[in-house]
Amino acid sequence: MPVAALTTLGCKVNQYETEKIAEEFAANGFVLTDFDAPADVYVINSCSVTAAADKKSRYLARKASRTNPNAVVVMTGCHSQQVLDHGEWVEGATLLVDNEDKMRVFAKVVEHAPEILSYSSSPATVLPARERRTRATLKVQDGCTHFCGFCQIPYTRKVKVSRHWEDVVAEAHALAESGTRELVVTGVCVGAYDEATGSGGPDLAELLLKVADVPGIARVRLSSIQPIEVSDALIDAFATHPNLCPHLHLSCQSGDDTILKAMNRPYDAAFYKALVAKLRAAVPDVAITTDLIVGYPGETEELHQNTLDFARAVGFQKTHCFRYSPRDKTYAATLPDDIPDEVKKRRHAELQAVVDASNHAFTERSLGETVSVLVEHPEGTTLTGYTPNYIKVRFSGPVALYGELVPVRLDSVESDGGAIGTLVLPEPELARILAQAPRPKFQALEMIGATP
Ligand code: SF4
Repeated sequence: MPVAALTTLGCKVNQYETEKIAEEFAANGFVLTDFDAPADVYVINSCSVTAAADKKSRYLARKASRTNPNAVVVMTGCHSQQVLDHGEWVEGATLLVDNEDKMRVFAKVVEHAPEILSYSSSPATVLPARERRTRATLKVQDGCTHFCGFCQIPYTRKVKVSRHWEDVVAEAHALAESGTRELVVTGVCVGAYDEATGSGGPDLAELLLKVADVPGIARVRLSSIQPIEVSDALIDAFATHPNLCPHLHLSCQSGDDTILKAMNRPYDAAFYKALVAKLRAAVPDVAITTDLIVGYPGETEELHQNTLDFARAVGFQKTHCFRYSPRDKTYAATLPDDIPDEVKKRRHAELQAVVDASNHAFTERSLGETVSVLVEHPEGTTLTGYTPNYIKVRFSGPVALYGELVPVRLDSVESDGGAIGTLVLPEPELARILAQAPRPKFQALEMIGATP
């Protein structure tokens, strides 16, 4: 059988699309392997949200072509789009596929090298099928028209489309039947999910309630959302449905009003803080995670201090901190990139220290509590998983607990803000699980967020 290896950079939408591409390769007889292993086809679903993402995308293409110089190395996604727009190429790549044709990657590979379908290679490792994941993404929306100053997405995905709710719920049922316990509902601008763009009726709050009611789905988590798109109905949904995880990734970008305006973000710091207060009043123990950019054009020391003060005041759980770099076609790219790199690095370190402290404090407040953890990553007898409010927990336990929701007491905080815990599963329940047939190997997804 031919062997394919796929990897993703960037947002949850990219992750979902990579999985769909992988499914098509698998359905056509390919074995899926690790990206580090020899393969006949490599697919890189690239990202260009920062200069670092561009660099890593190019690095992965070179790496794949070194691992197997005869492989077809395909790059798609935003970095590929950017390179094509400039009439350039990526070293190591065989094919560059633009965003419009992303879901045709398999067809493009077969057009380019039809003989690949008859290959009989031996994969070094075989990845588990998508249907065995404990946590899966569920894309419900595409397109954005916000035109934030730093973001390329509206230039490449400007048509807003919502998936029909029946289609979404059907996929949730299929995932539940194949063992998925947690769904991450995602979209390019997920808060724009509505009837006018094709949902068939429901808005985002109604859709989440329908997905949360699917038998077998124990948890539904929402991916990154614009603060202005958090409606009262959405807050009510999180406050009332036990399967909706108390965790909102409220994309923020800056805590200073001048910079927010320059970024064309449609809210100010006071609006954001008021929204967080409302959420905390309605949803007990809710985790607020976010993205923040330092070094945006025009960010003086005073404005940077405002963002530090804002981050301290909000007390985020996890935060993706980015150093600004100009992106093609964006409004910000027309402005002078006037903050020197060493200043951006220093501001990034200062902000990281603030958000690391609040992440640590968030976990510390839960010490002594017994919480539900979805067991995802095995490492010997050390198991790792997340609480509903996104605290990463490590604890000892048997591998047979993979994919189970188990009670864990949180004992101490790790340096990365995660917790060390103790399994407190009653003996009869543990014995029942251990008596079951060996469970399939599960694979979980990476951290929520990192969307612009
Ligand atoms: S940052 Fe998000 S909301 Fe803003 S333009 Fe990009 S995708 Fe749209």
